[in-house]
Formats: sequence, structure tokens, C-alpha cells
Amino acid sequence: MTAARHHTIVFGGTFDPIHHGHLRSAIELREALAAEELRLVPSHRPPLRGAPGADSKQRLAMVEAAIAGTPGLVVDGRELLRDRPSYTVDTLRQMRAEFGEDRALTWVMGSDAYNQLHRWQQWQSLFELANVLVIERADFALQPAAEVTEFCAPRRLAGASELGRQAAGGFYCMSLIQLPISASDIRDRIRCGRSIRYLVPDGVAELIHHWALYQAQPTGIPS
Ligand code: ATP
Repeated sequence: MTAARHHTIVFGGTFDPIHHGHLRSAIELREALAAEELRLVPSHRPPLRGAPGADSKQRLAMVEAAIAGTPGLVVDGRELLRDRPSYTVDTLRQMRAEFGEDRALTWVMGSDAYNQLHRWQQWQSLFELANVLVIERADFALQPAAEVTEFCAPRRLAGASELGRQAAGGFYCMSLIQLPISASDIRDRIRCGRSIRYLVPDGVAELIHHWALYQAQPTGIPS
């Protein structure tokens, strides 16, 4: 059996804002895969969606506030340094060059993101740079494009622990605790003047309040 390697899990997203669905998944993943670290990578300019409601620095600050003091979770702001669309393939290329060929790198995406994978820039190249792990998400059935299903099938690993034993090229689908929380629902609640308490960490709620983010009109947000 191949030996376990140093394993970095990479969890990218718009995080507009980061919420407990992201955070609980991050912790469960790191524990389940016994990875040394999980990097949260906020996208600067997400290619497949409109401009985020909070700017990149605000979203980065919310991620930092959310994970402060959580062992094994790290914020990685590298996409903010590239003033162009934030393609995952560029991020993983950079990480591979930085971490070396031996490190196990696993890119994580929820089922909604996986269903759109065929639209990502050079999506097949992601598998040369990292393993790909899909987490099932409540409210988003797995419905990938046929070409993605076909491409992933021969790369599917026998178990999650295999992800830490190879540097790249593996594919696995995992079901974790499923919290039906989404950033768009949180933004809608704020717009309607409803509470977001217990959907995001208190530190994140405070920043949203401080910057008056996501509001239809600049009025107060109930706590
Ligand atoms: P939006 O509602 O604005 O689309 P979102 O809540 O899906 O946002 P993103 O920042 O777009 O959040 O998601 C980043 C990554 O986290 C994606 O791979 C997404 O599938 C995953 N994700 C989002 N919410 C959850 C959740 N509740 N549980 C598990 N994974 C999630």
C-alpha cells in the first residue's frame, strides 16, 4: 500500500459570505481525510457568476474572522493578488509549483459546483494538478455533465483515505453532514431584514453589520 503523504485540502469559493455550511464541511473534511491543513481560498473574480456583494478584501476578512483559532484551517489569499478571473487551474498550478510534486493536493467542490465543472477553464487539467473531491450538498443533487462523468469514472478511488496517498489524479465523492445553508439565502435574508444569527459565525455577522453589506437599503440588520 502507498504511504500517506503530506496532504493539503484546498476549498475554494466566493464566500459571499462564508457560513456554517462551509465551515462545518471544512472541519469534517480535514478530520475525515486526516489532512495536515485545509486552505480556504476566496475567489477574487469568480468567472461563472456576477460580481459578489462584498468586495474581495471584505470576503477575505470574513473568512479570517470565521476561522480564527481553528486548528488546521488556513486562509489563502493568493487569488486576490491576480487581477484577472480567478481560474482554479491557475491557483492549483501555483500551489503545485510551491509545494512540490510529492504533496497530496485535494481540490474540494460541492455538488452544485461539480454539476458545472464542464464549464470551468481547462477542467481536465485540474486532475493533473490535484485530486478532486466532491461533497454532496443538501438541495443540490449530483447531476454532472456526461463528459465529466465519463472523465471521472476511471479516476474514482476506492476510499477517501486514498486521497492522501497520491499527489493528484484521483476522484472521490463523499457525503458529510449536510447543512442546507447557502450564501445566496443569507444575502436574501439580510435584504429582507431577517436575522442571519446561527447561520454564520458571530464575527462574520459583526463584519456584515459593520460594512452594511448585502442590504437593499442602508438600514440596520437585526442580530
Ligand atoms: P451562493 O449561494 O452565493 O452560490 P454558496 O453558499 O454556494 O454561495 P460558495 O462560496 O459559492 O457558497 O461555495 C464555495 C464552495 O462551498 C462550493 O464548492 C460549494 O458547493 C460549497 N458549499 C457551499 N455551501 C455549502 C454547504 N452548505 N455545505 C457544503 N458545501 C457547501
